Amino acid sequence: PLDSAHGLWTDPMSEKTIFQRIIDGEEDADILHEDDRCVAFRDINPEAPTHILIVPRKPIPSLDDLDTEDKDLVGHLFVVARELAQEEGLRDGYRTVINCGDDGGQSVWHLHLHLLGGRRMSWPPG
Ligand code: ADP
Repeated sequence: PLDSAHGLWTDPMSEKTIFQRIIDGEEDADILHEDDRCVAFRDINPEAPTHILIVPRKPIPSLDDLDTEDKDLVGHLFVVARELAQEEGLRDGYRTVINCGDDGGQSVWHLHLHLLGGRRMSWPPG
């Protein structure tokens, strides 16, 4: 697994990431969906008209830390993404992204699926 000891969004006073604090109700977020396995909320710095983060309650630091037993959980994140895309009215399409590690552009070390939509995306990503 990648070194997940660092991370810009980790509160230096706490072992918790910002997403763990949101999950635990210690930090405000615009929550759109909650169930027993994940929480989804709007990204605080949206890169598109719709930018939602779907975050498992289980504190998996990155995709690189995924265990075989997590495969249903990851599938669930994508089903929630599809439901939220429908709720957001993203009939012309959308993008899902998981950034992994420093080269992948990950900054919060708690696995999360980005759901982006409402504008035409370009490819390849930067
Ligand atoms: P990047 O920061 O490069 O997008 P990540 O894939 O790790 O890397 O994404 C972390 C996301 O978390 C960012 O889009 C950032 O805007 C978002 N974010 C950070 N803090 C909060 C917060 N308190 N509430 C909602 N979103 C947040």
